[in-house]
Amino acid sequence: MQTPQDKKRNLFIKSYGCQMNEYDSERMVEILEKHNYSSVDEPNQADLIILNTCHIREKAAEKIYSELGRLKKINLNSERNTKVAVAGCVGQAEGQEIIKRSPIVDLVFGPLTYHQLPEMLDEIETRPGQPNKKLVNIDIPEEDKFLQLKGSRKNLKSISSLLSVQEGCDKFCSFCVVPYTRGVEISRPAKQILNEAQELIDIGAKEIILLGQNVNAWSQSNGKDTDMTFAQLINEISELNIERIRYITSHPRDMTEELMRAHRDIEKLQPYLHLPVQSGSDKILKEMNRNYSSQEYIDIIDKAREYKQDIAISGDFIVGFPGETDDDFEATLDIVKRVKYAHAYSFKYSPRPGTPAALKDHQIDEEIKSERLKTLQDLIRQQTRDFNSSFLEKEINVLIEKQGLGVNRLTGRSSYLQSVHMDGDPSFIGEIVKAKIIKTRDNSLEGIIL
Ligand code: SF4
Repeated sequence: MQTPQDKKRNLFIKSYGCQMNEYDSERMVEILEKHNYSSVDEPNQADLIILNTCHIREKAAEKIYSELGRLKKINLNSERNTKVAVAGCVGQAEGQEIIKRSPIVDLVFGPLTYHQLPEMLDEIETRPGQPNKKLVNIDIPEEDKFLQLKGSRKNLKSISSLLSVQEGCDKFCSFCVVPYTRGVEISRPAKQILNEAQELIDIGAKEIILLGQNVNAWSQSNGKDTDMTFAQLINEISELNIERIRYITSHPRDMTEELMRAHRDIEKLQPYLHLPVQSGSDKILKEMNRNYSSQEYIDIIDKAREYKQDIAISGDFIVGFPGETDDDFEATLDIVKRVKYAHAYSFKYSPRPGTPAALKDHQIDEEIKSERLKTLQDLIRQQTRDFNSSFLEKEINVLIEKQGLGVNRLTGRSSYLQSVHMDGDPSFIGEIVKAKIIKTRDNSLEGIIL
């Protein structure tokens, strides 16, 4: 007898926001493939639509409600009886409210419960003679999500693969919702991580990107001989048959000298450090509850460069945080000039409901925020351009990840995470090639394979 779980179905999943969400979406696809779902590119071909949402950007929840409005308008095939699910941080934060405001939604769940997808889908399955059921599942589960997901990475074929090692955050920066939506900091056990890394290698990964909201806060400390630091974990992974290792995103408070030294000592660990500072003003850093000063941040960068001279530094900035004066903003420009970033992300501050900063007085005028953002982005763009230009005529290693746009075009990444485009045969995909850089652009390099 065929059960509802045996039927062949189509899945449309849309992922918003960070690489953690991208990773979670990959894992949801893997779980559902085991239950006869195949991915499709259009929502109107789907039996199940999942919006894997992010709460970091401005008005995140409103944007999801607009997307749900659009989904309602497009012709959801009534014969399919398409189910709509909202996952991720907006799901976690809004819960029942989503179903109240958007009745097309059948299921709401958060980043901590997606491993229960088959059971949740079974619960909302439309059964003859029974009313449609809706479900909200945002409780923090007792079981280990990753243990439940074990061994499901078999179908993912990605040269550069994401591997979540740490989830949640205890830092409570005053502008951020993550500690409320992803829960407290949890480090996955080293053994689990090493097993998953091996699975990824077995299916063709050449690069592993270790992910975490505070990835460098990862540690295994149970007072036993299995205690391990993040640098030691990277070292263990480097013993596997993998070409490159990266990690993202780090917090300056958790940046140990041992980890900086690892960039010198572990060849496979790439010379790239994403270390958000957010502001160059000590007053604003305090208001943000970042727990470091601008000088402490600079000291970390200097130390990292002592160990690995060519390390590319990347960062995140928020401009227009409540109370930010012209002098505070100047201090941000100063730190950018001092550090010289290879690349950085910058945003205007926008209040997230439920965070302490949203309640602060002295919110900054939008026009001032826009002006400051433009000034900062012009400076960062110039630094990225300078960084890229310094590669002209140089020979560098490039990991070819995929075909580029056009016949016999390839796209890969340098060790410093720059996109590198070049002509070449698709058989190079998955290889590290030596390339000479013949042209540099604001956001990429052009090379020839040597
Ligand atoms: S460190 Fe701060 S910004 Fe980063 S996830 Fe934690 S609370 Fe959010």
